[in-house]
Amino acid sequence: MAQEDVFKKVVAHCKEYGFVFPSSDIYDGLGAVYDYGQNGVELKNNIKQYWWQSMVLLHDNIVGIDSAIFMHPTIWKASGHVDAFNDPLIDNRDSKKRYRADVLIEDQIAKYDEKIEKEVAKARKRFGDSFDEEKYRATSPRVAEEVAKREALHERYKAAMQGPDLEELRQIILDEGIVCPISGTRNWTEVRQFNLMFSTEMGSTADGSMKIYLRPETAQGIFVNYLNVQKTGRMKLPFGIAQIGKAFRNEIVARQFIFRMREFEQMEMQFFCKPGTEMDWFRNWKAQRMKWHQALGFGAENYRFHDHDKLAHYANAATDVEFLMPFGFKEVEGIHSRTNFDLSQHEKFSGKSIKYFDPETNESYVPYVVETSIGVDRMFLSVMCGSYCEEQLENGESRVVLKLPGALAPVKLAVLPLVKKDGLPEKAREIVNDLKFHFNTIYEEKDSIGKRYRRQDAIGTPYCVTVDHDTLNDNCVTLRNRDTMEQERVAISELRGIIEDRVSITSLLKKLI
Ligand code: ATP
Repeated sequence: MAQEDVFKKVVAHCKEYGFVFPSSDIYDGLGAVYDYGQNGVELKNNIKQYWWQSMVLLHDNIVGIDSAIFMHPTIWKASGHVDAFNDPLIDNRDSKKRYRADVLIEDQIAKYDEKIEKEVAKARKRFGDSFDEEKYRATSPRVAEEVAKREALHERYKAAMQGPDLEELRQIILDEGIVCPISGTRNWTEVRQFNLMFSTEMGSTADGSMKIYLRPETAQGIFVNYLNVQKTGRMKLPFGIAQIGKAFRNEIVARQFIFRMREFEQMEMQFFCKPGTEMDWFRNWKAQRMKWHQALGFGAENYRFHDHDKLAHYANAATDVEFLMPFGFKEVEGIHSRTNFDLSQHEKFSGKSIKYFDPETNESYVPYVVETSIGVDRMFLSVMCGSYCEEQLENGESRVVLKLPGALAPVKLAVLPLVKKDGLPEKAREIVNDLKFHFNTIYEEKDSIGKRYRRQDAIGTPYCVTVDHDTLNDNCVTLRNRDTMEQERVAISELRGIIEDRVSITSLLKKLI
């Protein structure tokens, strides 16, 4: 199946099975804003729990907070967001569509990458077993030509983004012959800067209202609480503060479903450390975060790091964790070494000292910060894309199955009475009533067993149990595995242990240590 089709199917599946709905659906939606349905909210909560527990439970030097969305407006002046949280935008005069100039150019770079990979794939097919990929990449003139074009563009883009030089960005778009995907023309406007923060008014105008912003990242709530937490928690460096919460960005081009939203949720952890140790911590957090992603079992080949060419105004090193979505490798998480920029700025703008007194060296200094920042919604999308499967079965039928990592699945166990009589529903309900205290267990009696299995496959339920007439005598049930479809007979008394062992968040967390 073409990757574009896979993505369309994932989006449709999300709506059909109660994972994600467009916001304000009966009013035809609101651009790039989405709601999570009955299954989506469970999956989302499980992702958040996996993250939170991996940070706060597994590290004795990381604690959590929950700061307000509204913050003093000077915070955004201090952080640089009022002046520099911009994207370069460009319009196509014919389609009247607006694009991010940097994204148009990055897509063009990705096209060269695709061409290179296609050349290699063709050669692999041609040469068969004797194919020496490394040698081919190093010697093929066609590959060399594409690599040279890609590198030249990359260098030019990198330089243009440093300023950024808006005229040069436009010139690159013209020189590369990039066309608007809607109108197909090159009739581009100038490139302009656009600030991504939403603002609103606080207080009535009679008292003199104040312009405030909806936070574009949760990190600043951590920075301005750093000293509160350090003092009240008697924290010693190095230590981290974690937070999960909503963030808002007035994205110019909101597309690709929940990949780029205007209201979204972030899971951020700011790790405060001694100046000079930040690069070691940066490397350490890169490794820890990659392990967290890969523990989900989607395959190491579907992840990669992408180091930033253009560092944000606050960073001295930055990388993205990318996941292979149906539309290519895309950022899911950012890991940034933010230096002491934010804390120093808040010290300057608030006039309050937020230095750390180091009892070991008897010095006071502003700590350095390494941040890990991941979007819950983007993570959700990567999990859905990685899990969606259409399978051809041996009996000629096909099924759609969401091979979600068991620990993240909205429902862990579905209990199905074989028939709606003879005391089987009562027995099934008894099992549900016992297990629902431990994990999300549901009861389903409508339709044939086959149809019920398909419905559970489609929402990613890792296990189903069938209660049959024998159950009434032997207190055993048939446990069916979603992925292998194998069935085993197990005692009802063992169910809790089996499910917790195989698909609890704890079982996933154990892979991290
Ligand atoms: P991008 O380059 O895709 O705009 P970014 O580099 O600006 O992302 P960060 O500021 O590093 O993103 O934010 C950290 C994480 O927050 C991202 O890795 C992503 O998972 C998530 N995120 C950022 N913007 C959005 C958005 N508009 N919608 C959904 N998630 C987002």
